[in-house]
Amino acid sequence: MRKKIKCPHCGSESGLEHRIYMKGYDLYTGNGELEEEGVTEYNYRKTMTCRNCGKRVMTYEEFKRDYYVDE
Ligand SMILES: [Zn+2]
Repeated sequence: MRKKIKCPHCGSESGLEHRIYMKGYDLYTGNGELEEEGVTEYNYRKTMTCRNCGKRVMTYEEFKRDYYVDE
């Protein structure tokens, strides 16, 4: 079993947050119906922060390598 991530700052095991920034668009028909959605730009922070205290816990690379669960 994998070890649980624990924040080194506050000791919380509530999990991590990864900030993601997206730019995109919604296309509507002349009838006001949503026709298409798209993402044109996708950026993410290089760090993972604690969901409890907001401080940096590890890099995204470390997270992906050691903890990320791909189902
Ligand atoms: Zn914390």
